Amino acid sequence: MLPASFLQRLKQEFPVDFSSVDAADLEEYGRDWTKLYLPKPAMICFPRDTKEVARLARLCSESGVSLVPSGGRTGLAGGAVATNGEVVISLVKMKHLGEVDTLSNTVRAQAGAVTEAVHHHCEKYGLTWPIDFASKGSSTVGGNIATNAGGVKVIRYGLTRNWVLGLQVVTMAGEVLELNGALEKNNTGLDLRQLFIGTEGTLGIITEATLKLAPVPGDLDVFFFAVKDLDAAVDLFHAVRRSSFSVMAFECLTKNCLETVVAQRALPHPFAQSAGEGVGAYVLLEVERSGEDLSTWLAGLFEKDLVLDGVLAQSKRQATDLWSLREGTPESLMQKNFVHKNDVSVPISNLKPFVHELIELYKHPRHGFELYLFGHLGDGNLHLNTMKPDNLDKVEFTKRCKVTDEELFALVQKYAGSVSAEHGIGLLKKEALHYSRTPQEMVLLKGVKMLLDPKGLLNPGKIF
Ligand SMILES: Cc1cc2nc3c(=O)[nH]c(=O)nc-3n(C[C@H](O)[C@H](O)[C@H](O)COP(=O)(O)OP(=O)(O)OC[C@H]3O[C@@H](n4cnc5c(N)ncnc54)[C@H](O)[C@@H]3O)c2cc1C
Repeated sequence: MLPASFLQRLKQEFPVDFSSVDAADLEEYGRDWTKLYLPKPAMICFPRDTKEVARLARLCSESGVSLVPSGGRTGLAGGAVATNGEVVISLVKMKHLGEVDTLSNTVRAQAGAVTEAVHHHCEKYGLTWPIDFASKGSSTVGGNIATNAGGVKVIRYGLTRNWVLGLQVVTMAGEVLELNGALEKNNTGLDLRQLFIGTEGTLGIITEATLKLAPVPGDLDVFFFAVKDLDAAVDLFHAVRRSSFSVMAFECLTKNCLETVVAQRALPHPFAQSAGEGVGAYVLLEVERSGEDLSTWLAGLFEKDLVLDGVLAQSKRQATDLWSLREGTPESLMQKNFVHKNDVSVPISNLKPFVHELIELYKHPRHGFELYLFGHLGDGNLHLNTMKPDNLDKVEFTKRCKVTDEELFALVQKYAGSVSAEHGIGLLKKEALHYSRTPQEMVLLKGVKMLLDPKGLLNPGKIF
C-alpha cells in the first residue's frame, strides 16, 4: 500500500496521465521476459522528461517508496520485475533521438528509445550503435546500458559500455548528474559514468545518453558450418582468428538447438540430410569481406578437417535465414517447453576443458536433463538451457535444476569464469553471485550502493 501522503502529492504535483494503477498496466510493466516472478507493483509511472523523473525520485525518497526502473522488459534476470508493491518507473514516453553528429559520430538518446530505432535513425548517415541481439526490437537504450548488454557483435565491438560517451542519471535523491558530457578523453579521476553501466538500475535512473557510433560495416559474408562438437568449434574459431577477416560474429549452437529451431519455425535445414552424420554442433560466422578468396579459404577448412559441412550465404535473404537459425534459438526452445537457463562465461582459453566437464556433469544420471547449448562462443559465453520433460512438474524440475546449478557454478569458478556473462544478476542469480565476486568486492559494492541509495529504495532486492 502506498502512503496516503505520497498519493496526495502525486495528484497535486504530476499530470493526471502520469501514473496508472490499471490491472493490465500493473501486469505488463511489473514483469520482464524472465516470467518466473509474480508481478505485484502498486503503480506504474510514465515520465516524459528528466525533470519528471527527478521529481518522482525525490518524492519516493521523501515518502519511503521503492522505485523500479523499467525499459523494454526483455531482461532475463528479473531485474525490472516489481514483486513487492513498488512503483515502476517506465521510460516508454522518453524515446527522443537527437540529430546524429557526423563530426563526432555520436547521437543523444533518451533512455526509452528502442535499440533498433537507434539503428534505423543512424543508418542513413552510414553509422550504427553496434549493440545487436535478438531482442533489439523491444529492448531500450536505458536497459542496454543498465545491463551493459552483450550480444552477437561483442567479438567485434565489445560491450555496451564501450559505446556510451556521456550519461545523464537521476539519483534517488532527485539529483540530475551529467557524466562525461560527450568527451572521448577525460582523465580527471574516477569515471562515475561507468558506475551506472551494468548495475541494473540499482544506483540511479538513466534518463539520457550520448551514444558513440561506429561506421556501418562494409559487405558482410555469412557462413554456417557443421562441426563435430564444441571442441571443433573452438578449433575453427582459432583458424578464423588467424585469417585476414574481420570477424563480426562467431556464434555456436548444438545439434539439438538447430533441430528445435528448424522444427518450431518450419525452416529448411541448412544442410543435406547426410550432413547430419557425426555433427554435434553448428557455427554461424559473419565476417567483413576482405581481399581473401572465400572459396579457397573455405576449401582449406575442409582439407584441414576443421568443418564437416558448410554453406556461404549467396544473398542477403539467405544470410538472414541463416541468422534466424541462431537468433531464433532462444525463443524456439522456450516455445517447445519450459526451460531452465544459465548464461555463463569462461576465458576462451579455458573453454575446451570447461565444456568437457560441463557435458559430463549434465550426463550424470543424478542430473539427467538434456542440455541445449548455444551462445557467443567467440567471447567464451555459453547459454545453457535444460528442458523440462513432459512427465515432470515445473516446481520439481526447477528444484532439481537448482541443485545442478550449484555444481555448474562451482565449475565456472574453477575455470575463472562468470555466473552471469551478459544477462545480469537481477533476482535470478543473486544466490550465485558469490561464485564470481569475493567478499571484499561485495563490501565495496554495498558501500557504493549505500552512498547513492542509503534507504535502499531503488530497485530493492536486485543484485544485493
Ligand atoms: C530473445 C532474447 C535474446 C536476448 N539476447 C541477449 C544477448 O544476446 N545479449 C544480452 O546482453 N542480452 C540479451 N537479452 C537480454 C536483454 O534483452 C538485455 O539485457 C537488454 O539490454 C535489456 O534491455 P531492456 O530495455 O529490455 O531492459 P529491462 O529488461 O527493462 O531492464 C533490465 C534491467 O535494467 C534496468 N533498467 C532498465 N531501464 C533502466 C533505466 N533507464 N535506468 C536504470 N535502469 C534501467 C532494470 O531495472 C533492470 O534491472 C536477450 C533477451 C531476449 C528476450
